[in-house]
Order: sequence, then structure tokens, then C-alpha cells
Amino acid sequence: EDFDIVYFTKTIIEENKIGLKKGHKICFSTTIKSLFVHLDIKLLRHIIINLLSNASKYSEGNTTIGFNIVHNQDKVLIQITDQGIGIPEEEQGRLFERFFRAKNANNIEGTGLGLNIAKHYTELMGGTIGYKSRLNVGTTFWIELPIENRIMRFPFIEKQKVKFFNEKNI
Ligand code: ATP
Ligand code: MG
Repeated sequence: EDFDIVYFTKTIIEENKIGLKKGHKICFSTTIKSLFVHLDIKLLRHIIINLLSNASKYSEGNTTIGFNIVHNQDKVLIQITDQGIGIPEEEQGRLFERFFRAKNANNIEGTGLGLNIAKHYTELMGGTIGYKSRLNVGTTFWIELPIENRIMRFPFIEKQKVKFFNEKNI
């Protein structure tokens, strides 16, 4: 289904009131007023809630969480930035593993599944997920998604069919 990703993400932020639990200020910024995307809205909601709840969980309530949307050609980039505990450099390579939790997070509750699921869902939509983090400074998670997630289930077979058809008609 097609939906406006700007309006949709604003709604998620408002309805979940994630920032309000700890008093976070959420700073929403974007260069576009609206952008219609053809993506799985349920998967996207899950990913965003996951990343927002991490940003809130791993930072103090008096800090700001940034939410940024950038439109670039056939892609949309969503960035969620916190001013939290950060991720130790030596553990950064393992963050998307199932059940992995960084050592500086062991006094904060969690199962270590959220990011693994977020990565899985992002890839299901043909996108990529990543992050940049500095210990005790903060973390930015980003997801980049194609605006139009074309179903490419049988590209190989389709190409062969076309070839076959052409040959027959020569
Ligand atoms: P849950 O399954 O409930 O989400 P979790 O938050 O521990 O549990 P993930 O969301 O998968 O699991 O995150 C994995 C680990 O990555 C966390 O335990 C934490 O160590 C680290 N992490 C994730 N997001 C952040 C963040 N914004 N700032 C600092 N560390 C983070
Ligand atoms: Mg989490």
C-alpha cells in the first residue's frame, strides 16, 4: 500500500509517546513535506518503534532524540540519533546478532532481539540498516529504503521467458 512516510512517522512518534516516558525531547526534522512510499507499513512501524525505544532506553531523559528523514532519488533515509551511552567500539561489529547485548548495557533490561528483527525487516523491504556510535557520546541508527519496493521474486525466470519469446518470433 502507498502511504506518506513523513506523516506516518510523525504519527508513530506522537502516538507512542516514547519520548515522554523519560521526558525526552524529540526533534523531528526533514527536508520534505511529504513522500509517498510503497512499502510494508507494519514492518516499517516495527523497525521505527524498535529504534526509537532503543534511543530512549539507552540515554538519559533530559537529552534529545533526533529523527531525520531525507529523500534521495529513489530512496528514503531515516536517521534516529541519541545522546546516550553509545556502543563500545570493540563490540560494534556484533550488534545485529541475535541476543547480543553490549557490556555497557547489562544494567538496562533487554533481550538483544530488537535490532536483529529490525535488520531482518529492513532487508525484507529491500533496504539496508546501519549505525555510527561513540561510547558515552551517542548513537545514530539509519535505515535506507527503496521508495518503491518492487517484487523481484522471479527476475531470472522472467528474463528467460522474454528471451524464449523473442527467439520464437524471429
Ligand atoms: P530488546 O530485544 O528488548 O530490544 P535490546 O534493546 O537489548 O533488547 P537490541 O535492540 O537488539 O536489544 O539491541 C542490542 C544491543 O545493542 C543492546 O543491548 C545495546 O547494548 C545496544 N544498543 C542498541 N541500541 C543502542 C543505542 N541507541 N545506544 C546504545 N546501545 C544500543
Ligand atoms: Mg532494543
